[in-house]
Amino acid sequence: MRSFRIIPISAGIAALAVLAAGCSMLKFTSAPAEEKPAPVRDGMKEFRGALHVHTFYPADKGSIEKLARTANALGLDFVLVSDHNSLAALQGGKEGMYGKTLVLIGDEVSTDEGHLLVCGISRPIKGTASRYVVEQIRRQEGVVFIAHPFAKDYRWKNWSFGDFDGIEIYNTQANMLDEDFLSLAVKGVALFPDEFYRSIIKISPDALARWDRLLMKRKTVGIGSTDAHESHGLPGMEIDSYQVMLKTINCHVIARELSKAQVVEALRAGRLFFSFDIFADPSGFAFYVKRGERTFHMGDTLKAQPGDTLCVSVNRKTYVKVVHNGRPIHEAETDRIEIPLRGPGFYRVEVYVNRRPWIFSNPIYVELSDETDKAALSR
Ligand SMILES: [Zn+2]
Ligand SMILES: [Zn+2]
Repeated sequence: MRSFRIIPISAGIAALAVLAAGCSMLKFTSAPAEEKPAPVRDGMKEFRGALHVHTFYPADKGSIEKLARTANALGLDFVLVSDHNSLAALQGGKEGMYGKTLVLIGDEVSTDEGHLLVCGISRPIKGTASRYVVEQIRRQEGVVFIAHPFAKDYRWKNWSFGDFDGIEIYNTQANMLDEDFLSLAVKGVALFPDEFYRSIIKISPDALARWDRLLMKRKTVGIGSTDAHESHGLPGMEIDSYQVMLKTINCHVIARELSKAQVVEALRAGRLFFSFDIFADPSGFAFYVKRGERTFHMGDTLKAQPGDTLCVSVNRKTYVKVVHNGRPIHEAETDRIEIPLRGPGFYRVEVYVNRRPWIFSNPIYVELSDETDKAALSR
């Protein structure tokens, strides 16, 4: 998505107005996280990153180095850079570790039907016909997501085209641009950037419904992205600065180690959850199916056996919903769920904190095995 220059000015005015007026801010308070035993991971670890981040490589503004410094300061394990129709930063040797943060260079490819977020490729993509574009991505074994498919002005135009690994269920930039302008201006005048984003963040029921419809047909990875551009605002008052945008939404991948290959494969497999870390730290969240000592992770497909238990663990008591084939099957104010599988299909989890969207798991996919059937699962 391209940049937008009006709102930030109001946000700049905002900061001044707030300082002058001593205006009280919206506060989102959360109970402190309780110490919980680490979730079962089978030797896997959780790595937190921000997807879909723009730079202005090779310009100084919005540089890879500035992005990396900010990501380091925020404790991000990785960021995925996706400049518009460009792999220049990759070709310039900018991919790699910067302190504790792995900077991956992907691409945001403009096609005739919308934008595609791509990672795991090394050669530039040519053309704009989505079929041709995705053919090139597949030849390079890249991973492809539909970017901001639900944004008003940048929506994906062709859902009959099915050759993608996943979709952005959430995009911070799209969320902001789709807000009512007057409401944004008012919030811009009243709130600092963190509070500004906390006040506008919402997850679209239409996006979740579309994801569920896709999941009824095939595996589809859901991600949440920042789409930060580091381009807005007055000097020193950037509403979509990396500093704030990288906190709004993060993807937490489950992988053996922090490496390009492992992160790309986790994104391809959907071995991840995305969360609005700006509301609360989701550390310790786990969603898995337990079979004895064995664990099936998000993104896995398993053949069900009697006794398989679907487990959810959250670091505080809050509202947790388990969705099976698009329908809620268990909702509770809790920090722990253990329920038997209900049958074949996909299972995913939504968690809300203080009535705000917080954690969204990727699905676990369940098939019936030869030895069991739906009735046997619940016995
Ligand atoms: Zn875009
Ligand atoms: Zn973008």
